[in-house]
Amino acid sequence: MKAAVLEKIGAPLTVADVELGELPRGQVLVKILVSGMCGAQLQEIAGYKGNAKFVPHLLGHEGCGIVEKIGEDVTRVMPGDKVVMHWRKGEGIESDFPSYVYKGKKMSSGKVTTFSEYAIVSENRVTAVPQDTPDDLCALLGCGLSTALATVENDARVKAGEKVLIVGIGGLGACFIKAAKLAGAGAIVAVDIHDKDAAARALGATHFVRAGSEMRSALHAVDIESFNVIIETSGNAGAIAETLTLLGDSGRYILVGQPKPGESVEIRNAVHLFGGEGKTIKATQGGGFRPSSDIPRYIEEYGSGRLDIENLITHRTTLEKVNDALRLMREGKANRIMIDIWQ
Ligand SMILES: [Zn+2]
Repeated sequence: MKAAVLEKIGAPLTVADVELGELPRGQVLVKILVSGMCGAQLQEIAGYKGNAKFVPHLLGHEGCGIVEKIGEDVTRVMPGDKVVMHWRKGEGIESDFPSYVYKGKKMSSGKVTTFSEYAIVSENRVTAVPQDTPDDLCALLGCGLSTALATVENDARVKAGEKVLIVGIGGLGACFIKAAKLAGAGAIVAVDIHDKDAAARALGATHFVRAGSEMRSALHAVDIESFNVIIETSGNAGAIAETLTLLGDSGRYILVGQPKPGESVEIRNAVHLFGGEGKTIKATQGGGFRPSSDIPRYIEEYGSGRLDIENLITHRTTLEKVNDALRLMREGKANRIMIDIWQ
């Protein structure tokens, strides 16, 4: 089968033939239809995730697929089921690491991967969904959209009418605009280093401001001095230091984008953190997203029309062109990019 392989840290992915290994206890063989591309893959390619020792390996952690075959003791899915493939652990068996054969050698892989035609996945990384669930929605619920929805619910605890600042309008930031909208935020301000005014508003943002020296005066011009909630998706230490000063009394600042290993972040005039009932800074891990119970709930929100995914996906690509799509992500030119695996 065809797969995009990370052979060397910092190098483009190699699209090549990979053989599927055995399907031991607790593993599920999934035919992948669509895979999302997440900023985490850029970090893995750069070797920031401590993954250099595992190369060559497979990538991708949000996908939509159909179960082809199940290993021993798998009970939560059946062949033919449509599934969301997710990186957070759901219910079911936590299997051993799957194995593949690449260039005649055994290649281990993470418990879920999606940049390939098929994948061997741990039972607890797939959640069955109704057959009529749109493929793109399934893939988005594997990581980006679910992370945003769960973070807004569990970490940011956005209440109706609150002011929310979303820093970095890439694939994940775009999902946060949708999540803040679903939570009933009063103002949703998007900030990015690129001009994303039209794109942010199309997603549901009420305002857009450019990052940098003009940011504060642009906010002042629309009568916003501080925020109840700030969601930081860029991982840029300068952006974190700057936007921390915009956190209002009792505000919640949620770090989603990860700074580079070894990097420090400045807290200016740190005493302001005691404002109101005290402010919170939290580094979130997927917002505490619980796939088995949250995915069905999010699909219902979508079905009822309260949650929409319009304009979240700005580009589509194929496995062959995956490196071009990665470049677009690095340049900050895309929201979510979907890989149509069989095209
Ligand atoms: Zn992700």
